[in-house]
Amino acid sequence: MTTPKHGRISAKAAQFTESVIREMTREALRHNAINLAQGFPDFPAPAEIKLAAQQAIADDINQYAITWGARNLREAIARKFLQWQGLEVDPEREITVCCGATEAMIAALLAVADPGDEVIVFEPFYENYGADAILSGATPRYVALRPPAEPDGEWTFDPDELRAAFHTNTRAIILNTPNNPTGKVFTRQELEFIRDLCVEFDALAITDEIYEHILYDGARHISPATIDGMRERTITINGMSKTYSVTGWRVGWLIAPPDLTSAIRKVHDFLTVGAAAPLQAAGAAALALPDDYYEHLSSDYLARRDHLLGALREVGFTAYRPRGAYYIMTNVRGFGFANDVEFVRHLIADIGVAAVPGSSFYSDDLGAQQVRFAFCKKEETLAAAIERLRGLKRG
Ligand code: PLP
Repeated sequence: MTTPKHGRISAKAAQFTESVIREMTREALRHNAINLAQGFPDFPAPAEIKLAAQQAIADDINQYAITWGARNLREAIARKFLQWQGLEVDPEREITVCCGATEAMIAALLAVADPGDEVIVFEPFYENYGADAILSGATPRYVALRPPAEPDGEWTFDPDELRAAFHTNTRAIILNTPNNPTGKVFTRQELEFIRDLCVEFDALAITDEIYEHILYDGARHISPATIDGMRERTITINGMSKTYSVTGWRVGWLIAPPDLTSAIRKVHDFLTVGAAAPLQAAGAAALALPDDYYEHLSSDYLARRDHLLGALREVGFTAYRPRGAYYIMTNVRGFGFANDVEFVRHLIADIGVAAVPGSSFYSDDLGAQQVRFAFCKKEETLAAAIERLRGLKRG
């Protein structure tokens, strides 16, 4: 191997930085700022699922679960996928439970990608994907999602640019819908266009659908695996973190055809053995919550979105309206800072609100005037943050 060494550090680890999102949380704590940076709720999880977790521990579900996931959780995942997406999957051969969507993504990439392979990633992107691709040995190839001309419009990609990114060594495309950080929800037409390219280049789709139940303005989540011709080439990733407001539980899963699942299960076993057994039991209870739980989840987040969106626009941000997930991407050019990092430093230290510099979602300086705010917070947290944001001065 001719890969250059970086002292005692591997060439892989030298290629990416620590997570800027998680760093912003630490900065928020240091400055006592209100944390609209990292995407975790500051309100309680549903009482029923907390009780289910307590009961699981009391019932001594305290030892390793089956490495690819407790059977009752895998069965619950299969039932829910059938109910919501109309696809029948075999919990014995097509589902793997792991430690969050985070482990799911790296396990999927380690299972399918080799050095020399390329993985297409839309940017702005959730920052883990770039590091995950590098850790798997593959080369990320970025395709732009462009902000709308009007802030209420849709983020779009240029079909020709996407087509040009596909090559014979394209192993997979990573899709995140609903999308972090843009709030884009991919349409059927877009997914069919992507399907045609995946089929033509024999590429896989690895889809992160962690925000599937957080949707606004009539947007509908379409699981890419349900598009004709995609079931056999899609690895669907999801988890409990966002849907049930339990980001610290670390329970996620993958749904993939049996041959891919076999490879994923091996990788997952040697990475982590398995996710926390009592929390998997509680997961089975969570996935059985009635449908109106999901309706309330979206309508509660809609109220928070509208509150923060209106306030950000009032104080001078170009704030793009998200159709899904719980983030608002903004453009901060109007404030006259050299770049997003300087702006966020000012925001945290002087205004008392933490957000994430847009550049952490891009491979180059395209995000240098963008800043992301998370609104998965209590109304009073948002109200307090908005009060502080009114202290911002336009440049
Ligand atoms: N995928 C996306 C798009 C996210 O935004 C996040 C968290 O912010 C995750 C995955 C992490 O998911 P998990 O907590 O299941 O690891």
